[in-house]
Amino acid sequence: MKKIWLALLLLLIPVLAAAEDGIYVKQVEHLPKDFIFGMDISSVIAEENSGVIYYDFDGNRQDIFRILADNGITHIRVRVWNHPFDAEGRGFGGGNCDIENAVRIGKRAAKYGLKLIVDFHYSDFWADPGKQMVPLAWKDMGAEEKAEALYTYTKDCLTRLLGAGADVAMVQVGNETTLGLCGEYDWVHIQRLMKAGVRAVREICPEALAALHFTDPQNTGDFLWYAKTLSEYGVGYDVFATSYYPFWHGTLDNLARALTEIAETYGKQVMVMETSWPYTGEDTDFSGNSVSGDSPSMPYSVQGQINSLRDITDTIVNRVKNGIGVVYWEGAWITVGGASREENSRLWEEYGSGWASSWAAAYDPADAGVYYGGSAVDNQALFDPQGRPLESLKVFSRMRDGYGLAVEPDEPEETEAPGEAEVQVNYIIDPSFEDGGEGWIFRDLRHARELYVEEKQADSLTGTKHAHFWSAEPNSVEFILEQQAADLPEGTFAFSISIMGGDAGDYEAYAYVKIDGETVATAPMKITSWNNWDTGAIPAFYHPAGTEAAVGVYVKCQGRGTGAWGKIDDALLTPVTE
Ligand code: CA
Repeated sequence: MKKIWLALLLLLIPVLAAAEDGIYVKQVEHLPKDFIFGMDISSVIAEENSGVIYYDFDGNRQDIFRILADNGITHIRVRVWNHPFDAEGRGFGGGNCDIENAVRIGKRAAKYGLKLIVDFHYSDFWADPGKQMVPLAWKDMGAEEKAEALYTYTKDCLTRLLGAGADVAMVQVGNETTLGLCGEYDWVHIQRLMKAGVRAVREICPEALAALHFTDPQNTGDFLWYAKTLSEYGVGYDVFATSYYPFWHGTLDNLARALTEIAETYGKQVMVMETSWPYTGEDTDFSGNSVSGDSPSMPYSVQGQINSLRDITDTIVNRVKNGIGVVYWEGAWITVGGASREENSRLWEEYGSGWASSWAAAYDPADAGVYYGGSAVDNQALFDPQGRPLESLKVFSRMRDGYGLAVEPDEPEETEAPGEAEVQVNYIIDPSFEDGGEGWIFRDLRHARELYVEEKQADSLTGTKHAHFWSAEPNSVEFILEQQAADLPEGTFAFSISIMGGDAGDYEAYAYVKIDGETVATAPMKITSWNNWDTGAIPAFYHPAGTEAAVGVYVKCQGRGTGAWGKIDDALLTPVTE
């Protein structure tokens, strides 16, 4: 009898665990004891100065470094900008992350046994795949002199961090150095700067790992080329790190392949240095987010964050050779809490708690100086807008043993049996670009850098391919994507086609129909953000006998930030029936 009760109780335990907080964490097997679970909280001091308060799971106000340590985080990552201030000393924002800020963060991290990953951008503000601007103080230096300055600067910063008691475990020489580094774009110079940085790390922090950081693993060829180039130049680093944002950077299969090849070929340790996933598609601070709206496959939810982090960790542990860690990016960059944009803006300007302040115009007038504002990732934080931890913060400590119960997916809805559904006639050849764009032509009216049919399921509305455009320079995107409807009979037809994209700046985009070369109908299309598809639909136009019809899309973008980009998919040209 006793045994039966015990068995029943044991059966109940996982149910109770799941009921307590409703989350499910699938176990990651073979998780090494020393696996790096990192969190970048570079903006946290600016957040606190703006009045943000963080709470633990018991609802008590608590030092966020302790909250993170208590929940399985092992490393804190912090970015370092050379001098993110204008001539009057006003901060550029993004946390005003100079070395002083890093020293404060490193010191507090050490207090709770957290190690530090130092992320040198070697710029006065954001360095990423779109820009690698040289610090103002170094702008007149040649590459050799710059390498010397970089070496000295790195040594000084690391000395200060160690002096303050920071436990420096890893140092990144450059941030997302896919485009270049420190205003240099030729690898003859880039590798020299990297070597100078690594040399400083070896001298001051001989125990720390020296990391280089790239993105986007999806451009696997480029990725392998960086590793090969670094090897040929003899840059002696330890860790090849990448950003991996699932909504931009392709599949985990691809990530695993790319990192494993680098680990095997060059004997490097590899890791995901930045990742994140939204718990909501909504904005919470009156400043637009880099990912918003609805999710394509995995939900934007707390459980979605858990699943994303768990699957990335599983990939790095079990499917990648020499995988050492995963770092979540800016998981505490929540709203500063005001009830209006104006209220928040005052705090962003004063404390640097937004992604950029208006003062950043002094350094980056074309981007930050125009589009400055709040957090673009508040919907991807692991804390809610009130500073309370989301259940997803538990994922780091729960992955080792697994936690809760899996929710069975709902039974799929009954679908119409084949043959019953009306087949929609479509006069477009290759409407979803799955045949590589057969029948379509791109006409470039400026000089966009990229205009082609791309294979990438995550960026396709249906299927795995779509038409892609991108260009970094302002006003370089203007094109049409058109198809002659040669077989179109006389009659009344509807035409529609969809677009998504971003960083368009001022833009014009519309679907159109031409009869004998004259535009007879247009329908505007919105370019907003990733995965927010907008359909340009022309409900009816008449195609007279003996005329030539053509349908297509016109797009013109001023561009902003890292450049206008977009995807076009799923054209439909179908008869309109009464
Ligand atoms: Ca926001």
